[in-house]
Amino acid sequence: MNNYFNSCNSKYESSSIILFGAPYDGTTSYRPGTRLAPNRIRLESVGIETYSPYLDKELTDYHIHDAGDTDIFLGSAEKTLNSIYDKAKKMYLDHKKTLMIGGEHLVSYPTIKACMESHPNLRVVHFDAHTDLRDSFLGEDMSHATVLKKVADELGDHRLFQFGVRSGSKVEFEYAKKHQYIEIAGADTLPEILDQLQGYPLYITLDVDVLDPSIMSGTGTPEAGGITYKELLKALLQLKDQNIVGVDIVELAPDYDMSGVSTATACTLIRELLLLMA
Ligand code: MN
Ligand code: MN
Repeated sequence: MNNYFNSCNSKYESSSIILFGAPYDGTTSYRPGTRLAPNRIRLESVGIETYSPYLDKELTDYHIHDAGDTDIFLGSAEKTLNSIYDKAKKMYLDHKKTLMIGGEHLVSYPTIKACMESHPNLRVVHFDAHTDLRDSFLGEDMSHATVLKKVADELGDHRLFQFGVRSGSKVEFEYAKKHQYIEIAGADTLPEILDQLQGYPLYITLDVDVLDPSIMSGTGTPEAGGITYKELLKALLQLKDQNIVGVDIVELAPDYDMSGVSTATACTLIRELLLLMA
């Protein structure tokens, strides 16, 4: 078993980007299994090229450290979130950029919070099939279905930009339209909001279920009508001149796709995300 993502074996001290896993799926409401993603991704990452023809950049030209996984307490969301927060906080205090591999989407909250504390003007770009803007879900405040509302409450209005979203309650969509930015079921309008990101530190949170289930079946809550890999890549590449300080990729549940395509797709996305930040 590889204990680091393809070529990300530089020392912590010399690295400007730190990759880490947060294999928690304790609040998953439908099908669990995202806890398996970080190690499966590390294992399969040897199968991809380190060179991105899209960005004309090479992973091996940069110092990137894979810090392994955070301590996870499957019986306690609170303990787990604190553990992730402590790890991310230290990285941001050390002036690192981060790439986190989930886990369910809830793990983004402590990382974005830590990021925001070091970068108070943070803007967040969110790709997802789901709004994730509920105030509570199944009696829990802290859930994969509330995570972006928790983030938005800390950010304030007009600092969260959502793309690809096609599932949520009417109240969530109304909130997003009024207080933030949302494009329903697509990412074509991203160029129109670039001026609202310009000059600000940026965090990208990528729930893999934004992709159509025909190419991303390895996820717990698949939702038809998703965007294609090319559409997602096009959107991400439009962010290449922004000051990206943190990224996460969440909700991959490898075992729902026996072909392994979903995990391989996540691996190439991680390469592009790392190179976007590098
Ligand atoms: Mn999500
Ligand atoms: Mn989702």
